[in-house]
Amino acid sequence: MAGDRFHGRVTNPGRLCDRPGCPEAGEFRAPGPRGSSFDGPGDYRWFCLDHVREFNAGYDWFEGMSAEEIMRAQSPINGWERETRAFSPTAGIDSAPRWADFADPLDAISKRARARRPAERADGRLLSPDERRALDALGLPLDADRKALRERYSQLVRRYHPDRNGGDRSYETRLQGVVEAYQLLRKAAAFA
Ligand SMILES: [Zn+2]
Repeated sequence: MAGDRFHGRVTNPGRLCDRPGCPEAGEFRAPGPRGSSFDGPGDYRWFCLDHVREFNAGYDWFEGMSAEEIMRAQSPINGWERETRAFSPTAGIDSAPRWADFADPLDAISKRARARRPAERADGRLLSPDERRALDALGLPLDADRKALRERYSQLVRRYHPDRNGGDRSYETRLQGVVEAYQLLRKAAAFA
């Protein structure tokens, strides 16, 4: 019956299919490892439509895996490596950090903390966080001098300019970013 296709769907933003590695939303309930008893209602597993069908058909995805591998497959930390989580329709709506954006969340945090402070160059001159981001955008090292800045700028403008790409405007956004970064840095104290 066509109308029954999604019978039993229970949406819950952020809940993923329990099938290891599946990035789909877990919207269909299946009995979990612990059944209902005196202790209370049992656990449930949540799967996407395809995988609840497989589950009901008796598949065992954990077959042949060691206890350690099963733990790893089900661990929330495992989600940090699931890039697809960041692209699910509900990603970013709640306040949870989008760890999946980063291969290493702790590294991302320390990078962000560093980016809020001015950076000191070998010549003792300071770069504001904005200036530092602009340097990154141009792919220049912290200690680049004025000459390197100008050379890199003209190199990137040639690379991204439509006139140099047969009128192709697909690099327009990058060109704009390069121009903005250069405009900021040429006035920066560090490049005076
Ligand atoms: Zn699934």
